[in-house]
Amino acid sequence: MSSEARLREQICAMARSIFERGLTGGSSGNISVRTEDGGLLVTPTGSSMGSLDPARLSRFDASGRLIGGDEPTKEMPLHAAFYETRSTAGAVVHLHSCHSVALSLLPDTDPDNMLPPLTAYGVMKLGKVVMLPYFMPGDPAMGDAIRGLAGKRSAVMLAHHGPVVAGKDLESAVYAIEELEETAKLALLTRGLNPKRLTDAQIRGLVTRFNVEWD
Ligand SMILES: [Zn+2]
Repeated sequence: MSSEARLREQICAMARSIFERGLTGGSSGNISVRTEDGGLLVTPTGSSMGSLDPARLSRFDASGRLIGGDEPTKEMPLHAAFYETRSTAGAVVHLHSCHSVALSLLPDTDPDNMLPPLTAYGVMKLGKVVMLPYFMPGDPAMGDAIRGLAGKRSAVMLAHHGPVVAGKDLESAVYAIEELEETAKLALLTRGLNPKRLTDAQIRGLVTRFNVEWD
């Protein structure tokens, strides 16, 4: 099997796993991954993450031209903005995951650092998660808001919508967005119970040891 054929299979398998665990429903959520030739494979518009066809993924060449497959997700501007501003990005994943969205609706959620520092992996895998304001789906201004972060953040949360996470490859982007959703779930479960957070010194230790994008 060619490396692109393997990548297509991997995208569909990871998307199905995400769907089956209820991390995004219906035809929501989308994935893009860099190909070896500098192009992109992208999940098509209107498709369910639970039943993607490897042969019908949208295929872009290195100049950004659609050269095969179905029409890509309407949320392409989100993906493009990450690739433009983060040279290390090899994949971008976006979900409509329940607990992350719930946390984005609460009045005391900090837009500069949306997740409370509750676990080591939440800090290590995501760094600070910036919360962006509400945009109409497909609004190119969403891309501009991500460009405004100048590549300094790998994970953003679109308020009233869902998270978007970039990683060096598909696996790391998926694992990071799962960590985001799990941390949001912990934040909601412990809300009002005065949970202990990691201390500043513990956070600083992780940031230094694992080169976390925090400052
Ligand atoms: Zn969306």
